[in-house]
Amino acid sequence: MNAKTPATLPSPHYPFENVPESGSYMQVAEGIYWLRMPLPIALNHINLWLIEGKDSFTIIDTGWATDENISIWEKVASDLIGDKPVEQVVVTHMHPDHVGLAGWLCNIHKTKLCMSRAEYLNCHLLLGYSHEDTPAEAINFYHAAGYSEQQLQNYRAHFGQFGQFVRNLPHAYQRLQVNDTLKMGDEDWQILVGEGHSPEHVCLYNAGRNILISGDQLLPTISSNVSVWPTEPQANPLADWLRSCRQLSERIDDEVLVLPAHGKPFQGGRSRLQTQIRDIEHDLEKLLEFCAEPRRAVDIFGVLFKSKITASNLMMATGESLAHLHYLRVQGLVEVEYREGVGYWTTS
Ligand SMILES: [Zn+2]
Repeated sequence: MNAKTPATLPSPHYPFENVPESGSYMQVAEGIYWLRMPLPIALNHINLWLIEGKDSFTIIDTGWATDENISIWEKVASDLIGDKPVEQVVVTHMHPDHVGLAGWLCNIHKTKLCMSRAEYLNCHLLLGYSHEDTPAEAINFYHAAGYSEQQLQNYRAHFGQFGQFVRNLPHAYQRLQVNDTLKMGDEDWQILVGEGHSPEHVCLYNAGRNILISGDQLLPTISSNVSVWPTEPQANPLADWLRSCRQLSERIDDEVLVLPAHGKPFQGGRSRLQTQIRDIEHDLEKLLEFCAEPRRAVDIFGVLFKSKITASNLMMATGESLAHLHYLRVQGLVEVEYREGVGYWTTS
């Protein structure tokens, strides 16, 4: 960790003043379209991308599975895609706002799904939970984090929600792997992979035109959630995330046009990654001081988050708090002691 106060790095620069209205699209580069879809949560939109070649389109990410979004895709099919076939649907990662309508789109356009293996398999895993009771492992996990009985009840009531916003995936897919090349439109795009926000998150990089479709791996203003989840309760995703940020910052420069899943297209991607790394290191230092006294995961929200933690963001805040604590534990800087199943974290 770096004990010095972070020096200021250049802020992102936004080359487009306008944002497409919800449900509509605009061209951002030759043959590349920015489609803005509504999201029924506090983060109220997602950016999806369409790449047009001479003879075909590629769709990148799909939106939540809602009737409203289906209507938007039907309009895009008639207004933009027209008679050209859709060559493939590419999904950056398995979160519902990205993968939700992938199965539906593949079916409607009679085309294939391209995803990384870990994202495809994890999506199937979570879809399989949709009709199951809450497992004891998950209850123990959130009890250990410090949830009250009321919060555990609420968790049980919402368990398996993933399937409400994600249509079933096709039963076969094309695997995307780090450093592979994928033809989209008429050009080659490199597959870059990040970890930490999701298991094997795909970004697509066009080196010739210096354009990066970054999904949630690189965002201009908000930071992506990096969480420990009950399926892998000892995970250290913050180490994965920091390594991925460093690797990506070595691959791109500040000139690259970043097309992110949330916010606006921007330049300054390399600096943005470095700022994020420094912010995380700074948070880890604050957390270490705070853990001079024993703390539960739910006690540290005030150190890590500016926004108020409510029932709707409690799970992500808990996962992210644990990600920070696990990172420090692996470094040998904090230790945990369980009292009646609840973890108390203290500086070593
Ligand atoms: Zn995501």
